[in-house]
Amino acid sequence: MDWKRLKAELLAANTVRLEGEPCTGFISRSTAGPTAGGEGSVFFSKGGKRVRLSVAPGGRVRLRHHGGGRATVRLGELEAEGRLEPAGLHCPRQAYVNVSERCIFHCRYCTVPLLGGGIKDPATIEARVREVLDRVDAIAITSGVSDSLEAEEQRVLDLVKRLVPLGKPVGVSIYPGPETPERLHDLGVAEVKWNLEAATPELFARMCPGLDYETIRKALRDSVKIFGKGAVFSNIIFGLGETDGELEKCIEDLASSGVIPVLRPLNPSAELASFPRPTAERILRVCGILEKALRRHGLDARKAQTMCTACTGCDLVPGRDA
Ligand code: SF4
Repeated sequence: MDWKRLKAELLAANTVRLEGEPCTGFISRSTAGPTAGGEGSVFFSKGGKRVRLSVAPGGRVRLRHHGGGRATVRLGELEAEGRLEPAGLHCPRQAYVNVSERCIFHCRYCTVPLLGGGIKDPATIEARVREVLDRVDAIAITSGVSDSLEAEEQRVLDLVKRLVPLGKPVGVSIYPGPETPERLHDLGVAEVKWNLEAATPELFARMCPGLDYETIRKALRDSVKIFGKGAVFSNIIFGLGETDGELEKCIEDLASSGVIPVLRPLNPSAELASFPRPTAERILRVCGILEKALRRHGLDARKAQTMCTACTGCDLVPGRDA
């Protein structure tokens, strides 16, 4: 079985139970993104490609750790040998930090507001990044909105000033204000990711009350002018109730404007815990749609230096996973 199919099956299954030798040193615990607040994740890699799996006692995938990182995954009839990859901070080869581990918004699929985490002090974050600097290729910053959009942006700008001089490409993904792209660019940030989250404005309004789709779209357009084509990204969660046609239109809108979409299969949690996880077939199908759109518009996901398109843990990424 080729990697693309194997990864689609593993992504659809999503959860893993660990067997064999202890996986100490290979479990990443996150306070943002699809793994926030769970029992952690492991990154299984094979031939330089990787997939993230959420650790759960009754996980669908079985992963046997043979020691020293050597591992076998099994899912029904599927079996593959590979390695566990240690995370830098949050994910392999990147120091991906979350500034505010809480949020005043309540996106229906997100567990962050339920976790009630704190705001990290910039000096502590810098120290943690320095600890892993020789093991990472990039630094990435995200954040919930702990009080106001303005205060959150200022916190992130202050952190960027500390992290850019460390000499790795820096990517930032927060909820953008009108001046955010320019301010980050002026400080030396290499890439930005503003998440449209849903394929249509209507779905976005239902899923992310209080946030504004047009603000994000404008930030994406402005950012392509500032950072350049292919250096701007946007997460689109699929499995929220959109059709393939709606997803295709959203992908085309983004790619034609120079933005690389990050197609993220829904992690059913928070208010959407009863939603089904997208199937392997759908994951492969939407990846095919994305692949054609990127090619049509001269975008190359392999050039991404930071954040999810560089990591690839949670998504099937054209050019990197094929
Ligand atoms: S793909 Fe993104 S959210 Fe998933 S583990 Fe990698 S950096 Fe984190």
